[in-house]
Amino acid sequence: MQFLCTKCNTPYEASPLRYQCDCGSPLSIRKDPSARYSVDSMTQSLWRYRSTFPFSTNTPPITLNEGITPITPLHPGDVSHYVKLDYLCPTGSYKDRGASVLITYLKSLGVTEIVEDSSGNAGAAIAAYAARAGIRCTIYCPESTSKSKLSQISAYGAELELIPGNRMATTEAVKKAAQNTCYASHNWHPMFLEGTKTIAYEIIEQFNGSSPMHVICPVGFGSIYLGLYIGFKELYDAGIIERVPRLLGVQPETCCPIYNAYRDKTPTITRMSQTASTLAEGITAELPIRAPQILDTICYANGAFTTVNDTDIKAGLKKLAEKGIYVEPTSAVIIKAYQKFQQEGIINSGDTTVSILTGSGLKATTYF
Ligand SMILES: [Zn+2]
Repeated sequence: MQFLCTKCNTPYEASPLRYQCDCGSPLSIRKDPSARYSVDSMTQSLWRYRSTFPFSTNTPPITLNEGITPITPLHPGDVSHYVKLDYLCPTGSYKDRGASVLITYLKSLGVTEIVEDSSGNAGAAIAAYAARAGIRCTIYCPESTSKSKLSQISAYGAELELIPGNRMATTEAVKKAAQNTCYASHNWHPMFLEGTKTIAYEIIEQFNGSSPMHVICPVGFGSIYLGLYIGFKELYDAGIIERVPRLLGVQPETCCPIYNAYRDKTPTITRMSQTASTLAEGITAELPIRAPQILDTICYANGAFTTVNDTDIKAGLKKLAEKGIYVEPTSAVIIKAYQKFQQEGIINSGDTTVSILTGSGLKATTYF
């Protein structure tokens, strides 16, 4: 296994400090083409797909038995729109998938200390799995981050570095630290996507080997969107599924650079400065790190994007809660998005769609 620059194709050997190319671009993973897909059905977690991870199957997993989250019809008895309850992962978000695989990989390299920047679900997930692995963990957050968000990260024993200024200042601070300490970045490290790809593997298992027509997910930096494509593509290449589902992304109106590029059919994604807040705070990436890969994925997966506003999100939260589902606002974007994709003729009558619910409502309890 090697890392490969997504822009200039420079190869790199595995190393604790390597998270980006010297040219500044993110890395992908060059996998062994002879690797074969198999499911260890005795393992009740995403580690049942360990044969598809690009490291030895003998590597001891750092796991809380994350994954194998339920898929259920949004409306009882309706077989057209399903929701996957990924907020039921151990720390309350799908980020546990990426954290489990990434921390396992870093532990196998002998890493004893990591840094990460996130004030939200990724920070909590990385802190939890670092605790599980006995790895010292420091999470960098903007000074303005609310105490309630920091409390879960602190509870896992991670050190907090609160950085004055905006989110960019926090990024600068963690990158400086990453010169000497392993950067377990959920946005930069390609091993994180090896965890999120397991959502695709699970969907196919839960649909008895067939593909839904569409999968909808919230998109900020794109770790679910890209992970879904990696997983479905591997299954397609292995001859296990006949087609990759259409991948449909949702962004908030106040920060939607991917949607803008999709709508305007531009060859690149342009930074969109966020000038107003949104309830969907988990998907506010002004310029995704993996922008070219996201555009490629839209092309390969016949993807489509739409946007929602805070009124839509509040209505979505209410609608989901009425069905017994309590999620954070970032997840609730899927309700209005499903309607808009129907109105645009992208989702048609009789199509099977799966929407990913990413984070627990227990993390954001102030919206009702
Ligand atoms: Zn490069």
